[in-house]
Amino acid sequence: MKPAAFTYHRARDVDGAARLLAELGDEAKIIAGGQSLVAMMNFRLARPEHLVDIGGLDGLDRVRTDADGGLRVGALATHHAVETAPPDALGTGFAVVREAMHWIGHLPIRTRGTVGGSLAHADSTAEWCLLAVLLDAELVARGPSGERRIPATDFFQGYYTTALAPDEILVEVVFPRPAPHAALTEFAQRRGDFAVVAAAVDLRLDRDGRSVAGGRVALGGVAPRPVRVPEAEAVLERGGPAGPELFAECAESAAAAARPPADANGSARHRRRLIRTLVARACEEATSR
Ligand SMILES: Cc1cc2nc3c(=O)[nH]c(=O)nc-3n(C[C@H](O)[C@H](O)[C@H](O)COP(=O)(O)OP(=O)(O)OC[C@H]3O[C@@H](n4cnc5c(N)ncnc54)[C@H](O)[C@@H]3O)c2cc1C
Repeated sequence: MKPAAFTYHRARDVDGAARLLAELGDEAKIIAGGQSLVAMMNFRLARPEHLVDIGGLDGLDRVRTDADGGLRVGALATHHAVETAPPDALGTGFAVVREAMHWIGHLPIRTRGTVGGSLAHADSTAEWCLLAVLLDAELVARGPSGERRIPATDFFQGYYTTALAPDEILVEVVFPRPAPHAALTEFAQRRGDFAVVAAAVDLRLDRDGRSVAGGRVALGGVAPRPVRVPEAEAVLERGGPAGPELFAECAESAAAAARPPADANGSARHRRRLIRTLVARACEEATSR
């Protein structure tokens, strides 16, 4: 299938792109890597009259750590660039970000698809969206009236829906603090497919790494947007030896609290069983870091 006719615009810089979006109104869309948008246009699920291409903009593909130990990833960085970034670019404590990349599609998709495109597309099972919610990321958006930072929990609003205004461009995602004991794991029908359920945890371990003193749990594929699970986090907060018993209890709480949907990829019961397995597995992987 081919997309409906559209007018192509190549942006010269971010402010120019924002001005174009403001001028062209609701009928315009940004295109970055095109890995999600072009498929939607081919299936006529999206019919933008104008495409504003930001793919060639300078300076938006940087991956770097900041003075506070946080990680900043430019919107045009590709998944593959993050996966293969030199260790000093990612800093210590962000192995979870690099390792999450191998779950995304296949290599050709990872070499073209961008971090900003993934976050703006806001699939509830997308790895970047889950990482952003797990690690309390802030998303930096720029529009005609300037720049603003949006906490991840406010950014994702529902299925494929974000807090971005139509004339705003996502320029960067900021992960504020290292997460040395974090892990993300998932189940997909086939290698490279979007996950049916994805689970991510960020554990707080004591000094010798043998006890859990708290942590975060986030799930994708169980709600219209990626969600944290306070009931499972309460189990981690109560603490205890870092081992199967505590992790099974945490996983059980996550499964009991979730209200997953049923669709062609599986029933709600199937998803609950996946949550149980994946949360425990993520806890084990996070501990072994
Ligand atoms: C077969 C296949 C399997 C895939 N599997 C996975 C997977 O397992 N996990 C996963 O996360 N993804 C997966 N993807 C999607 C892939 O990660 C895409 O790269 C990503 O979703 C979109 O990035 P993009 O740069 O291609 O964005 P585009 O397709 O260019 O744009 C996507 C949307 O984001 C908007 N947009 C893009 N950039 C910006 C920006 N900077 N600011 C504001 N809006 C913007 C566009 O207007 C559009 O609405 C898969 C894709 C395919 C084709």
